[in-house]
Amino acid sequence: LFVGEVDFLKGVVAMDGLPPDDRAEVCFAGRSNVGKSSLINALTGRKGLARASNTPGRTQEINYFTLGSERYLVDLPGYGFANAPVAVVAKWQALLKAYLAGRVSLRRAFVLIDHRHGVKAVDNEIMTLLDRSAVTFQVVMTKADKVKGAEHDKILEQVRGQLAKHPAAYPEIVVTSSEKGDGIGTLRSIIAT
Ligand code: GDP
Repeated sequence: LFVGEVDFLKGVVAMDGLPPDDRAEVCFAGRSNVGKSSLINALTGRKGLARASNTPGRTQEINYFTLGSERYLVDLPGYGFANAPVAVVAKWQALLKAYLAGRVSLRRAFVLIDHRHGVKAVDNEIMTLLDRSAVTFQVVMTKADKVKGAEHDKILEQVRGQLAKHPAAYPEIVVTSSEKGDGIGTLRSIIAT
């Protein structure tokens, strides 16, 4: 769908660096190592487009990608680094809050949840921030290929239980595997609509 029409636009470190809000955008949020880069690469069909965020501080930018001429795909910095410096976390939170509260062209946020772990406390914090910012969000499970049968359903139940507490959450959960390609088409069509 987006193959060949996706490009990196810019990395943004402050609100005044945001591109004009003249087109709809969707953003991706998730804990570090949740599989966000892999998912964006799978979605866009461009390996290596989104860099893996393996070191704290390396991707404290809001990364903008163009999808054709009508959409932006926004990669938010990964959160929840165990050893992230306090100053890094504070700076990230301030930018994130300002972005979520002030970005009028933001249509939907995708909150990525590792299918092996379910919703953690830091994920709940982000979801609460989205509630308060009145940004509707949809949960995307990642690495579904790593979880089998009963465990798969058990985690989904846990996630549904958590989502029920968040007024800004879409009830439908998208289950994906960047490795196997599951759910990627579904996610592409959601972004395109
Ligand atoms: P990020 O920090 O959220 O950008 O996460 P990455 O995309 O760098 O992925 C973190 C790790 O999870 C890497 O070792 C990936 O290879 C692995 N990973 C990501 N997506 C999948 C998936 O769908 N299936 C499996 N099995 N591993 C995945």
